[in-house]
Amino acid sequence: MQKPDGHIASYYAASANPAPRRAPLEGDMEADVCIIGGGFSGVATALSLAERGVKAVILEANRIGWGASGRNGGQVLPGWSGEGEMVKQLGSRAQAFLERTRYRGNEIIEDRMRKYAIRCDYAHGAATVALNDKQMAALEAEFESYGKSGKDSDFELIDRAHLKNHVASDIYCGGLVDRRAAHCHPLNLCLGEAAAAESLGVRIFEDAKVVSITRGARPSVSTARGKVTARIVILAGNAYHKLEQESLGGYMLPAQTFTIATENLGADRARSILPDNLGVCDANWALDYFRRSADDRILFGGLCTYSNRVITDIEGALMPRLVKIFPQLDGVRAEFAWGGAIGIPLNRVPLIGRSDENIFYVQGYSGHGVNCSHIAGEILADASEARLDGVDLFEAVRHFRIPAAELIGNPMLALGMTWFRMRDAFGV
Ligand SMILES: Cc1cc2nc3c(=O)[nH]c(=O)nc-3n(C[C@H](O)[C@H](O)[C@H](O)COP(=O)(O)OP(=O)(O)OC[C@H]3O[C@@H](n4cnc5c(N)ncnc54)[C@H](O)[C@@H]3O)c2cc1C
Repeated sequence: MQKPDGHIASYYAASANPAPRRAPLEGDMEADVCIIGGGFSGVATALSLAERGVKAVILEANRIGWGASGRNGGQVLPGWSGEGEMVKQLGSRAQAFLERTRYRGNEIIEDRMRKYAIRCDYAHGAATVALNDKQMAALEAEFESYGKSGKDSDFELIDRAHLKNHVASDIYCGGLVDRRAAHCHPLNLCLGEAAAAESLGVRIFEDAKVVSITRGARPSVSTARGKVTARIVILAGNAYHKLEQESLGGYMLPAQTFTIATENLGADRARSILPDNLGVCDANWALDYFRRSADDRILFGGLCTYSNRVITDIEGALMPRLVKIFPQLDGVRAEFAWGGAIGIPLNRVPLIGRSDENIFYVQGYSGHGVNCSHIAGEILADASEARLDGVDLFEAVRHFRIPAAELIGNPMLALGMTWFRMRDAFGV
């Protein structure tokens, strides 16, 4: 395994495909679209633009995939966070959008993997598993609803006895398998998409932290040593930026979430844990999720500090949870442990919109961004061609703005989440 080169130390950085180290921005340049942030949101948007012949520039403060996009659980699941809230507020307009885009992110990713030969260990199949009868009843109802709408062929409802053939644990009451959902090596996906974007003319600068945005008929974006002036600016820094705070401050709170990768278990042992290579999430509000890596480790995530506290002993916090699910892993070591920041709006609906006529932003997928960031990329590419349907829809959602969020935001979020964790613990 290799040493990280500008990414944080993680299993993904240790197994990353080769990627060029791009130069920082020096001097002034012009662009059609300037994108701030080189995670999935920024890179997917740039690639959507490039495929339409629009040349974009990406300014990334660190390296491509340095943020959540290169650190996540790799679960490529359908739908959006905050769907219930969107439908509650916008009714059939949101319903139609959600139905139409449910697997759109997965489709875009799969299409790009084929088109640009991106190697990212992509594997179909994900399961939601129930920890109690109430959760199982909800999965049964969900499966029934797919049957009624004739969409059940991709799904399989599995009872307690049979689930062990898929997830070798005694703690679950059953599960719902979705064969269209998937899991992958997210950093290699992001690096592959960045290389594809570059091959179509996108310019990428790394170690290029944007320190200010100047509004105007042609807005400009400044780093320590350079400036890009563009027709449109797209802010895709997610939980890692402090730009446009007059418009965006208080609408989204950062939270830290963590992952471990066990040592290599060998093919037989890894397969005995997850025989058909599903990505798995439990049905709790504050959920645990896990999957096999292509080189026979178990990757396990499941802790989120809504106070935004960074945990120092991640292995100590996560390994006992993994062993509780799979006692057969007792004594196994975590070879890698890392964390990253996600953005959470209070109603969990992602923030996609405009802070000025020609300055767009996208952030706050609430820990569910691998697929959605790719749909957001299409929405923003449409917006840069003055097709604003998608942006209009998200701008129509009412969000709660926390006053003095820097001071009270995370304690408020942590308090709210304690309530949901208690509900998980008592199975209500
Ligand atoms: C541990 C973990 C597990 C997760 N698991 C899953 C999962 O299994 N499935 C799922 O769907 N989602 C998951 N997520 C969430 C998912 O990773 C994110 O929603 C998604 O990656 C967000 O992409 P992004 O591009 O918007 O943000 P990021 O990937 O965070 O990228 C933002 C980028 O912007 C750059 N940036 C910030 N400020 C500036 C600036 N001023 N100038 C220039 N660049 C800047 C940063 O350096 C960073 O690279 C997880 C997240 C974490 C942290």
